[in-house]
Amino acid sequence: MIKVAKFGGSSVADAEQFRKVKSIVGSDPERRFVVVSASGRRFPQDNKVTDLLLLVNAHIEYHVDCTALLSDIQARYQDIADELELSYPVAERFGEFAAQVKGFSPEYVVSRGEWFTGQLMAEYLDLPFVDAAEVIVFHHDGSVDMERTAMRLRDRATRLGSFLLPGFYGATVDGSIKLFQRGGGDITGAILARCLDAGVYENWTDVSGFLAADPRVVDHPRSIHRITYDEMRELSYMGASVLQEEAIFPVRETNIPIQIKNTNDPDAKGTIIRETAEEHVKEHLITGIAGKRDFMAIHVQRAHISNDVGYLRRALSVFEKYGVSVEHVPTGVDSFGVVVNGADVKDSIYSIVNELQHELEPDSINVVDSLALISVVGRNMSRRAGTSGRIFGCLGEAGINIRMITQSSQEISIIMGVNNADFERAIQCIYDRFVDGEMVEMPQLAQ
Ligand code: ASP
Repeated sequence: MIKVAKFGGSSVADAEQFRKVKSIVGSDPERRFVVVSASGRRFPQDNKVTDLLLLVNAHIEYHVDCTALLSDIQARYQDIADELELSYPVAERFGEFAAQVKGFSPEYVVSRGEWFTGQLMAEYLDLPFVDAAEVIVFHHDGSVDMERTAMRLRDRATRLGSFLLPGFYGATVDGSIKLFQRGGGDITGAILARCLDAGVYENWTDVSGFLAADPRVVDHPRSIHRITYDEMRELSYMGASVLQEEAIFPVRETNIPIQIKNTNDPDAKGTIIRETAEEHVKEHLITGIAGKRDFMAIHVQRAHISNDVGYLRRALSVFEKYGVSVEHVPTGVDSFGVVVNGADVKDSIYSIVNELQHELEPDSINVVDSLALISVVGRNMSRRAGTSGRIFGCLGEAGINIRMITQSSQEISIIMGVNNADFERAIQCIYDRFVDGEMVEMPQLAQ
């Protein structure tokens, strides 16, 4: 089996982290393909190399001298090379880069973070270095040319047998460097896993996988051992993010599991993201709970809305016109609400309401702000009668008013709106009663 092992910025932040990576890669001969991010933070107040390189670009744009900044970046690589006694000529190569930095494209400058980290790690792990610019092929519109990319990656894999690939960047066919979104090393790893038809995509980071709740709200929440792609999307969307979200798409289509592991605690179980469960295992009824504050609901009421074809479309087109993304649309017979992120409408809410008045001629419109959304996520809730009733009951007993309810169409999440002020208490309540405890006998496999 092929394992693709991707190490994030904190896993390659300094020589000590490099040593951990070596021991992880060396402990399993199936880990033959390694992807690295640029060196990240060594301590909380530290900077990620990527951020420093973005700062270099800003200096260049505003014609400010960035010699000191470049020296700082060089020193980070030099320290790693010195401590690990690598022969890679950091001063010479980085010096060449720094001397010409003004002539490079901003993307090229930023990509050197993963490039230098990759050069050092390749030597340290004794793996051939494959430049992502030669194998990750971008279309000019910024999307990945999967056909060419797959051909090139497979060709390198066959010829070399194993290699190290820097994450986060690639190039168009004419050689201009392109970047993924921030955190995009995860996407590179996923693409590599897919193209090599890996048995698992290991994503090594600094936490032992997904937690069932935000540790800032719930004390020592349990970790999630298995999660499906859809559940992960639901939880990440609400802020419980460990992995770059776009990274799941390449592997999902081919059903390659993603294993989230902790470089600083490699024996911890971590989280596996995949569709199928092992048979006959007891699983938690609820996989996790996440939420965000500061949403706003715009409620529209008018008699006989349900007979008025196109009414909802007209309402939504007002939000579209203001470039506001709509989160939920709970509907009643003669009313509906549009739930949006408060920050997205902070400057436009009055204009939006005015336009809705004009466009829809409703009986009433009212705006509710300070709404927190809480999403209770669990594949095992689907087709299991009574779960939502019990969750609502639990909030009722705690005297928490639920202001809105929606359920995702595959029944894997129940989303509730409560007052911002009740946010933490609501999460704690549901966590204690359901997320931490309740197990179900037979897993219901995701369809
Ligand atoms: N180095 C890039 C970033 O900091 C990409 C990554 O770490 O995956 O966003």
